[in-house]
Parts: sequence; C-alpha cells; structure tokens
Amino acid sequence: MSSNLFKRLARSFTVRLSLASAGLFTVSAAVLFGLVYLLLAGTLEHKDREIIEARLNECAAVYESMGLNGLKDLVQRDTVADKSRSFFVRVTGHSGSALMMAAPPDWMRFDPATVPAGGTGAGPAWLRIPKDEERDITVASMRMKDGSVLQVGRSTNSRQMLLEPFQRTFLMVMTPALLLGMAGGALFARRAMKPVRAVVATARSITDAGHFSARVPELVSRTELAELAHEFNRVLDKNQTLIQGMREALDNVAHDLRTPLTRLRATAEMGVQTTSDPVAGEALADCVEESDRVLTMLTVLMDITEAEAGVMKLNRAPCSITALLRDVISLYELVAEEKRITVTVDFPTEGGASVDAVRMRQAFANLLDNALKYTPDGGAVRVSCRDNPDDFLTVTFQDNGIGIPPEERPRIWQRLYRGDRSRTQRGLGLGLSLVKAIVEAHHGQVAVRSQPGSGAEFTIRVPRA
Ligand code: ADP
Repeated sequence: MSSNLFKRLARSFTVRLSLASAGLFTVSAAVLFGLVYLLLAGTLEHKDREIIEARLNECAAVYESMGLNGLKDLVQRDTVADKSRSFFVRVTGHSGSALMMAAPPDWMRFDPATVPAGGTGAGPAWLRIPKDEERDITVASMRMKDGSVLQVGRSTNSRQMLLEPFQRTFLMVMTPALLLGMAGGALFARRAMKPVRAVVATARSITDAGHFSARVPELVSRTELAELAHEFNRVLDKNQTLIQGMREALDNVAHDLRTPLTRLRATAEMGVQTTSDPVAGEALADCVEESDRVLTMLTVLMDITEAEAGVMKLNRAPCSITALLRDVISLYELVAEEKRITVTVDFPTEGGASVDAVRMRQAFANLLDNALKYTPDGGAVRVSCRDNPDDFLTVTFQDNGIGIPPEERPRIWQRLYRGDRSRTQRGLGLGLSLVKAIVEAHHGQVAVRSQPGSGAEFTIRVPRA
C-alpha cells in the first residue's frame, strides 16, 4: 500500500469512525466475556470449596470420634466404593510428620508430601497448589483438638476443563466479532457520511470544473447532515443569483456604453484629421486608440453574452478546419518570427466540419495568440487537428511556455480573469471566455492541460455536423 494511500485512509473520517466502532465493539465484547469468565470461575471455585469443606468436616468428625484408624477406614472405604470421592487426606502430627496420608491415583506425578501443612485458625485454611502447567489442586486444612492438622484436598481439573473451552470459544468468537464490528462500522460510517461526500463532490465540481449549476442531491430526512446539504445549496443559489446580477449589470453597461463611445471615437478621429496642432493631434490619436481598445472589449463582452445566452447568430457551413487553422497561423507568422517561435502543424486529416468560419477563426486566433504570448522567445507551438471516431474533430494548441498553475486553471475561462503571471502581457482577460462561448455555441467542448513551467495544451472538440 503506498504511503499516500495510507495517509489518505488515516485522515478519512469514515475509516476513523469504522475503527472506533470496531474498537468499541471489541472492548465491550472483551469486558462482557471477562465478567462472565470471572463469574463462572468464581462459582466453580465456590462449588469446589463447598465439596472439599464438606469432606473435611466429615473426616474431622470421624477423626474426633473414631481416631486415626476410623479415618483410615473411611478413606479406604470411600475410595473403593466411588472413585469420584477420592480426596487427598492427610493428618500431620505435632512433630510435623504425616500420621496418615491418602492421595487419588491421578496425583501420581505429583508428590502429595510436598503439600505444605497449614490450618491454624478456627475455620479451614485454603491452599491452592499448581500440580502441573495446566492443573492445580485445592487443599483445606483444619487444626484438630489434639493439635494435629487434618488436610483434605481435591484436584480442580474439572473446573479447568470447563473453563478452557470457554476461553477457546472466546478467541474464536472475537476474531469474527472484530471483523463484524469493522464491517458494520464501515457500513454505518459510509452511510452517515454520504451527505458530506455529496457536499465535497459538489464543491469540487464547482471549483475544479466550473460547473456552477451543480447542487447537492437533497435527502428527504431532516438530519443535521441533510440540513447541511440543504443550506449549502441555498448558499450556492444565492451566490449564483448575485453572479447573474453582476453579469447582467456588466452586459447592460457594455451595451449602453457602445453607442456614445463610438460617437466619441468618430469625433476624435475627425479631430485628428482636421487639427493643425501636433500636441492636440497626438492626444486625439491616443483617444482613438483607447476608444478602440474599450470598444473591442465591449464587443467581445457582448459576443460572449450572446453566445452564452444561445442567441449568437452562427452562419454554419461546411468548411475545412485545417484551412481555417492555416489562415490563422499565417496571420500570426510575423509575431512568431519576431519571437523566434517555431509553429509546427500536424494535420493528418482535412478536418471538414460544419461551423461558422468567422467565429471559429476568431476562437483559433485567440488560442494561437495566447500560445505565442505566453511562450518565451525561441519556444515552440504545435497545432494539430484530428478526426475522432465519435464524429468530433479535435483541435489542439500546444506550447512550451510558462504554463498555468493548477489553482488558476478553473478560472481562466471566466470573463476578465487574468493569471497572476500574465499581467506583464497585453490582454483583456476575455480571450478564453470568448473561445469557450463560441465552441459551446457549436455544441463543442474546451479543455486545458498544463504543467506550470512546461507549457499548456488547449483542446477544442467540435462536432463535424
Ligand atoms: P488574456 O487577455 O489575459 O490572455 P485570456 O482569457 O485569453 O486572457 O486568458 C486568461 C488567462 O489564461 C491568461 O491571463 C493566462 O494567465 C492564462 N493563459 C491563457 N493561455 C495560456 C497559455 N497558452 N499559456 C499560459 N497561460 C495561458
């Protein structure tokens, strides 16, 4: 697993939530098991002690009434009669030597003589001695009236035998439980995070792809996350209304300014021709130049508005796209020569398509103008035109110029947007908006790919018919 994927997973809220729920599930199961285990072990131990204590009392009564021989008889009798009643019984005298000792046969590998003597208090004293790695024995000791110590013990194998499968079952159950907890957690987290993922996807499609009309699919439920999606959509609607309002205002201003500006330009031009004052003549010429610039801007703005609104008049007719491209390239021959930029073409096809030749030439010119403008002296520009099997033509303008940083890429198609590093070049920030508007009016698409520092590649796809 690559470290990037691992980091992404570690950051993912869904993964964290799944792990947390799996952890919680496992800990709860372990605690529950631990409690049941302790309870069961305690009950079994209590039961064992009850049995041992009863036998101890029985042996003590016989010893007190019938002495050591009576006790020996009892032990002998019971062992022969019922193997399950075979206990460890020992009486230790004052000197510490065993007066009598009997041990069940399965204690063979264990030396009963090693059981320490005990039992000093009034009630029985308990000893728990490991017999081997897996089993242990429990011994109760009691001091008799004559000062000797009576001990009765029993191996607790049966208890261990009951608990062992329980432990094994726990381990066997815990692994699927952990997996189940993780799977359940992942499912739950995925479902819970669905609205958040939808919000992120919508925000991305707006910022990365410029789909301003994208909205989060709203859920019927009224949970907090569903509300987040709803409110997010309201904010987007509000923003779009504002942007629309600003666009309309700009379009109206452009429209209203065109006529007085054209009149102003005509007056200034007449002044240039009639004045004999060279200073006034120069000022009026500047006026004409600036008016031309603003008029171009207004014309382009209005063209974009028309194209975007779907009311641009397109005179579509079958023509050769490569012929249009060659026209545009020859138009920019001088500019390319001046910057020592090599323009190469790759036209394996004639590129016949039904387009508005004037508008399409305008779009191509803007793209070539940009390629030459944003490529340093001595660079290279490549123009290609290809037929696609899906009945579309692909025209590409590729340069090895300054390129476009990723954060600027979605914005270059917006009106009046100019890249930070492009401000030293002439331009209005309207070229690409017009290209996009013209291509989309032809039901085509535009796209850009770029690596900052190693050039840009603009692609236009237009339907042939
Ligand atoms: P401008 O008048 O600034 O060229 P455009 O709309 O034509 O306006 O382009 C918008 C922005 O896109 C430019 O300011 C520039 O930052 C970027 N751009 C366009 N074409 C290229 C290119 N071939 N190489 C690098 N940047 C480009």
